[in-house]
Amino acid sequence: MATNTATTGLRDITNLERIGAHSHIHGLGLDDSLEARQSGQGMVGQVKARRAAGVMLKMIQEGNRNAGRAILMAGAPGTGKTAIAMGMAQSLGSDVPFTMLAASEIFSLEMSKTEALTQAFRRSIGVRIKEESEIIEGEVVEIQIDRSTTGLGQKSGKLTLKTTEMETIYDLGAKMIDALNKEKVMAGDVITIDKASGRISKLGRSFTRARDYDAMGSDTKFVQCPEGELQKRKEVVHTVSLHEMDVINSRSQGFLALFSGDTGEIKTEVREQINQKVGEWREEGKAEIVPGVLFIDEVHVLDIECFSFLNRALEDPLAPVVIMASNRGISKIRGTNYKSPHGLPVDLLDRLLIISTTAYTEPEIKQILTIRCDEEDVQMTEDAKDILTRIGMETSLRYAIHLITASSFVAKKRKATAVDVADIKRVYSLFLDEKRSVQMLKEYQGQFMYNEVEMADREPA
Ligand code: ATP
Repeated sequence: MATNTATTGLRDITNLERIGAHSHIHGLGLDDSLEARQSGQGMVGQVKARRAAGVMLKMIQEGNRNAGRAILMAGAPGTGKTAIAMGMAQSLGSDVPFTMLAASEIFSLEMSKTEALTQAFRRSIGVRIKEESEIIEGEVVEIQIDRSTTGLGQKSGKLTLKTTEMETIYDLGAKMIDALNKEKVMAGDVITIDKASGRISKLGRSFTRARDYDAMGSDTKFVQCPEGELQKRKEVVHTVSLHEMDVINSRSQGFLALFSGDTGEIKTEVREQINQKVGEWREEGKAEIVPGVLFIDEVHVLDIECFSFLNRALEDPLAPVVIMASNRGISKIRGTNYKSPHGLPVDLLDRLLIISTTAYTEPEIKQILTIRCDEEDVQMTEDAKDILTRIGMETSLRYAIHLITASSFVAKKRKATAVDVADIKRVYSLFLDEKRSVQMLKEYQGQFMYNEVEMADREPA
């Protein structure tokens, strides 16, 4: 997401755009039959995983029936697990909530782990609420003619425009409708009309109720409102998340907490009341549930308590689709002495559909790097791209992506318009990748603090 930084102090930094790691991703790059294009919407390769994500996306878009589904994206670091989740988020409708959570975020002192997870779950469930619109200036909602005040034989009648739900207006004809629009007749205005000429004049504002007229037994005739300017009874639909409703209704927090993000723990009773209210609205047809997506990155960082919470929470009818990502192989389940695939307990794994991501080919890495150069507005010669691609193959895609920005600074310093091989070499020697850093540690570990931890004790990547 691009943010503009304001000019600060003496240094004139104008319009410095910040580009996120995934800002080049605009969707999953699938065609109508959910087949993944080799490259599309910023996504390259990883065809099988993207196709699987596309099927999941369709299921999510179909709605309620998919509550509580969970997917695990499993694959080596930098193979696009987060990128695919971002692609899914981009393809969801704007009112389908997508929450992104790094598992480490739940280890906060402010609230319990299960509370943090509950909030993340409820942030990912939308409630689409239907409401009738407020009347705005110039809108005519309904016109009711009361001829009892003037008598049937007379050529003018008294109209009362009101804001009730009735969908009918007196058959005034197109001429009259034009006249009403021209005069900017508003709800509540009392006007007189000349039925022959269609001329109208405002008498003032009065909120005479429909039922007053009903009581008078007027012989008012109603017909269906014609399409067009006068059919103004609009339905406004807005979507809020269950979490937002919890916060707004929580007396201890109040809605301002939504802006600060400091919502603290929310009482169970508040959530129960909200669930009940939403249930009533659903029955009355006033609201529907929009199950969104909760993406939990680095899921292996969660511990056994969180995993058992997830097992239970996924069974809730108000659960979102949960997508987890892990780059771990067989590793320890946090909070236990057991090892298991991806660091997740087997009972949780059993509930998951697993999408695996695989290593990129050289042309794919080059294509991703080219997309990133475009995204970052960096000109790079073909030779430099080839070198960078080779670096990407031998180190990691992420490291190669990082070198784009750094090398463009170096190129700018020598007043070049495009990054060349020499710039890439320069930044490659300035910044170490993981392998060279480990090599360096091995050579110089005696000079570092806390060097007593043997390399063999490191958790496997
Ligand atoms: P980790 O396990 O370390 O979290 P990851 O699998 O989530 O890694 P990403 O963060 O998705 O990896 O990918 C690293 C970088 O490469 C990101 O900038 C991402 O946008 C980009 N990227 C990865 N795969 C693709 C792809 N298939 N198409 C385009 N860009 C990609």
